[in-house]
Amino acid sequence: MDKKKFNRVLIANRGEIALRIIRGLRELDIESVAVYSEIDRNAPFVKFADFAYYLGESEPLKSYLNMERIIEIAKESGAQAIHPGYGFLAENPEFAKKCEENGLIFIGPNAEVISMMGDKIAARDLAIKLGVPIVPGMREPSESISDLKHYAREIGFPLLIKAAYGGGGKGMRIVRTPIELEPSLESAMNEAYSAFGNPTIYLEKYIEEPRHIEIQIACDHFGNGVYFPERECSIQRRYQKLIEESPSTIVDEELRKNIGENALKLALSAGYDSVGTVEFLMDKNRNFYFLEMNTRLQVEHPVTELVTGIDLLKLQVEIAQDIPLSIKQEDIKLKGSAIECRICAEDPFNNFLPDAGKIYYLHEPSGPGVRVDSGIEMGSEVALFYDSLIAKLICWGRDREEAIKRTIRALNEYIISGVKTTLTFHKAVISSEEFKKGHTTTDFVKLHLERLLSKLQIKEQEVISAIIGVIDFLKKQSFSSQEKQRVTAKNLWKYYYRFSKF
Ligand code: ADP
Ligand code: ADP
Ligand code: MG
Repeated sequence: MDKKKFNRVLIANRGEIALRIIRGLRELDIESVAVYSEIDRNAPFVKFADFAYYLGESEPLKSYLNMERIIEIAKESGAQAIHPGYGFLAENPEFAKKCEENGLIFIGPNAEVISMMGDKIAARDLAIKLGVPIVPGMREPSESISDLKHYAREIGFPLLIKAAYGGGGKGMRIVRTPIELEPSLESAMNEAYSAFGNPTIYLEKYIEEPRHIEIQIACDHFGNGVYFPERECSIQRRYQKLIEESPSTIVDEELRKNIGENALKLALSAGYDSVGTVEFLMDKNRNFYFLEMNTRLQVEHPVTELVTGIDLLKLQVEIAQDIPLSIKQEDIKLKGSAIECRICAEDPFNNFLPDAGKIYYLHEPSGPGVRVDSGIEMGSEVALFYDSLIAKLICWGRDREEAIKRTIRALNEYIISGVKTTLTFHKAVISSEEFKKGHTTTDFVKLHLERLLSKLQIKEQEVISAIIGVIDFLKKQSFSSQEKQRVTAKNLWKYYYRFSKF
């Protein structure tokens, strides 16, 4: 067999992304090897894989971050390649290198480009060199408070403190006035150090009411590359995305081409050789600024798959097998509109506090234009060890209006019992006038959430009291128990239905 061809892949991840990878591999006639931690022993991805190996205890360091053990299992299982998914080891250049040293193909870009793009300052430098606009800010990071204060005066307020080697919104602080600067610098450095083992921070101008616009790209090993239509991911909490859509309501054909070409130029100049995403912020005047590059498949990649019909996972695997890109820029056509809701085990009524528990009832939506990428089933344990993402609902429509209607319809079919989830949050946001009008900026949650949720809470309260009322009424009647059952079921269904039509 060709050195780069493989027919068995180890998946160094868990949950919905592990399942999504297995599905893609299966369509490519490639066998999958799952690795699992103690708590994931009975998880759907473990059952679904062709082979499964126990990795270690549930703590990430003892399982999904344990590079040596993962590589050992890969060799033992006869896998020739490793897919890292996202999170965990996906953007760890050391892991990519270790795979290579052990004769395993890392399904992702080369270690050098991961390393370069993982350094936000180096990535910004490259953007400047290429004439790709960046958010105004420091060219060099610093650990000196007096240096940072000096730069703060230069950049002006409001500004944003960022961890140079950060991610996941950690270590970020908005600073609106000079008085807040010093304490914020110190707390950001502490957070960056505890999260990334490196306290280095830098300062950027804070763009007011921006939108998060990002470009999916794909580059092969032969210098060919393509860009895809933008995704907008402005609905966020704690700088983390919750809803993503494609296309954006404020991007037209000309801007799409401009931002796409800039993203691709950056990736190709960096020597990028896989699928990846270039993130930008866009201000009210539709100026865009490079933010960072994510050197992996992203959580929201299905949105792009639905509007282009291209399977990004399969494309990524083909690139890793040294197959030249078979698609050309003109083959990528935007068709319709897609929206993704991240279903997280979090309490939207309590500051999105992560929740844990057993899923004792689950009903997933389906039907036309509905895709559910889920990592759970009835009986699954949701633990606090890992990311709170348990499933993704992605809906396609011929236009945004249809995609919205479909998402609301699907959300109303979706039932998850046992853990608190963001389903209610999504119902509130997607059915709001502000979202329908496309007034989506990154401060959406701050501006509207409380009002939208309280409206929803009233509805839920109404339904609950109606149901209690029906039960109470029936208790007082002298129905036979069979009659009682029938009437109750009918009324409950009626109320459920009324509830689900808001
Ligand atoms: P994006 O892909 O849009 O950049 P994130 O920044 O939220 O979105 O994605 C990366 C995050 O995914 C990591 O910070 C990590 O918390 C999370 N993650 C890692 N592994 C998994 C997994 N198996 N399932 C769900 N989320 C995961
Ligand atoms: P991470 O590595 O955590 O993903 P990013 O630089 O991609 O960090 O930023 C994450 C989010 O933080 C963005 O989507 C945006 O909402 C917000 N953000 C980042 N930089 C700025 C900025 N300069 N002005 C305003 N918001 C910003
Ligand atoms: Mg980011």
